[in-house]
Amino acid sequence: MSFADLGLSDELLAAVTGAGYTDPTPVQKQAIPSVLMGKDLIAIAQTGTGKTAAFVLPMIDILGEGRTRALMPRSLILEPTRELAAQVAENFEKYGVNHKLSMALLIGGVQMGDQVKALQSGVDVLIATPGRLMDLFQRGKILLTGCNLLVIDEADRMLDMGFIPDIEEICTKLPKQRQTLLFSATMPPVIKKLADKFLDNPKQIEVARPASTNTNITQWVVSVSAQKKRATLERLLETDDINTAIIFANRKTTVRDLNKALQRSGFKSGEIHGDMEQPQRLAELDRFKKGDINILVASDVAARGLDIKGVSHVFNYDAPWHPDDYVHRIGRTGRAGAKGTAFTLVAPDDAENIQNIEKLTGHKIARFDMGGGAAPEAAAAEPKEAPKRSSRGKKPQREEKPKAEKAPAAEAAPRAEREPRTPREPRAERE
Ligand code: AMP
Repeated sequence: MSFADLGLSDELLAAVTGAGYTDPTPVQKQAIPSVLMGKDLIAIAQTGTGKTAAFVLPMIDILGEGRTRALMPRSLILEPTRELAAQVAENFEKYGVNHKLSMALLIGGVQMGDQVKALQSGVDVLIATPGRLMDLFQRGKILLTGCNLLVIDEADRMLDMGFIPDIEEICTKLPKQRQTLLFSATMPPVIKKLADKFLDNPKQIEVARPASTNTNITQWVVSVSAQKKRATLERLLETDDINTAIIFANRKTTVRDLNKALQRSGFKSGEIHGDMEQPQRLAELDRFKKGDINILVASDVAARGLDIKGVSHVFNYDAPWHPDDYVHRIGRTGRAGAKGTAFTLVAPDDAENIQNIEKLTGHKIARFDMGGGAAPEAAAAEPKEAPKRSSRGKKPQREEKPKAEKAPAAEAAPRAEREPRTPREPRAERE
């Protein structure tokens, strides 16, 4: 089945060709025709499956008919994070080049004035994070009664971030007769209930998890003591062939401390987490995309769904608390057919998390032996006698290498290293 068989307009097909896509992905094949027919949709699909285009493309054609009215957006896309909202807006621009649709981005952390101005002149598409939308709604700056198309993206992440009550309230402000599309990587009972309440006879589709099928990513678990995590990470950063790397940590404090430590060690690193102001977050991402820095230390909330080309490595400084986040994190590499490598540092405190990840993915991750400086098996064809220096990212004067780890799996982390486990992102990570 080609894009031309899906019922999209010629203008849109031209934009899709311009984006370089030849065939629709499974989620696009299944979703686009029924969205164009006006049906509600539940799609279980993760980032990396092409799910954004699965709703953006048909929306552009639907909104191509009709006109805007002041203060009354015609459609609404809810995203859990500012970065994802900005990314969906970029998708609208890319696929909508041959249409004249107006769009407003309503996200926390940026001045409200411009956002309100855009709304006043009327928009076809409003892309928002729930917090900022509720804020503007309560100030009477926006009316959702003309909004006939609603997309709830990354619903399970909305749940993790505590946004479900906001979403329920937003749903009640929209007209009852509308089209609703819900995308989620998983379908926990709360999301199922939300769908039952607010969707009308939806078509249901489910596509495979990208991580379970993405054989382009070589995955490793590195056993390490909590005290030696940083030295081990630095050693991997020096010895593996790093082009660009994203390093995930579970806590914002770890993100900050780790970035500082890496910079002190001479790495060209930056950071991104939920405590940063939006312009700062975008600027840091920009530096990473441009290659001013080649290492980005990130928290899950800031990095979810980011689509950055050419990331060669993902490091999990901590094994994520939610097994699904592992799939999201490592999916930042090995994109668009490229090869990628993911290392997860596992201290005793991470052991349970890694077990849950292996249970979810149904795949036992190979253990990487740091002993004696051995290179990863995946790169065994090209044994690395001396640590390679990447062309970017390090100060030249760095000579000392941390000693090889002996991977003392049974060694306990000192008390101070342990923070209480929280099943969800802390509240402060929200928009
Ligand atoms: P998403 O799952 O929406 O995050 O999309 C993941 C990546 O797939 C993005 O970089 C898209 O540009 C890309 N993509 C979306 N649809 C297609 C397609 N039909 N063919 C090739 N790449 C695609």
